[in-house]
Amino acid sequence: MLLNVKRLLAEEGLRLPFDYTLQVPQSEFYGDDDRLASLHIVGEAVNRAQIAELHFAVSGRVETVCDRCLDPISRAFEYRYTHTLVKESPNGPDEDIIVDGDAVHLDQVAITDLRLDFPLKFLCREDCKGLCPLCGANLNQGDCGCDKRQIDPRLEALKELLQ
Ligand SMILES: [Zn+2]
Ligand SMILES: [Zn+2]
Repeated sequence: MLLNVKRLLAEEGLRLPFDYTLQVPQSEFYGDDDRLASLHIVGEAVNRAQIAELHFAVSGRVETVCDRCLDPISRAFEYRYTHTLVKESPNGPDEDIIVDGDAVHLDQVAITDLRLDFPLKFLCREDCKGLCPLCGANLNQGDCGCDKRQIDPRLEALKELLQ
């Protein structure tokens, strides 16, 4: 969606609300296992005392797998952002968006913001026990009975020397 910044800056007190759904190309920022049908973007741009501010929330649901045990995960998320739209800002704060021309491409702003905050990995739960490295069993469903004590190869060599 294009946000008309020229119009926004021309009228003090003007509010431009928006509420729309954005289809995100799979390749934009998700791994092969992740699925994200759409993003819901809701917010407004306001001219507050001749300063153009942009406030919005990005929400959606990601379908992925647990990084440790590979169980499917379906998780809702929501992130909120605020920016100031400026014509030029050589030393402005990071939240500033420099407007080149008369419009801002809101989709790109939202995707760029989300990319910085979106987790690279998801866990089915904080204390997920993962898979057994020996038999591949899901250890959240109980112990598989494998002997998972790691044998240090240096100790093995020492043991042989002592024999
Ligand atoms: Zn897990
Ligand atoms: Zn096992």
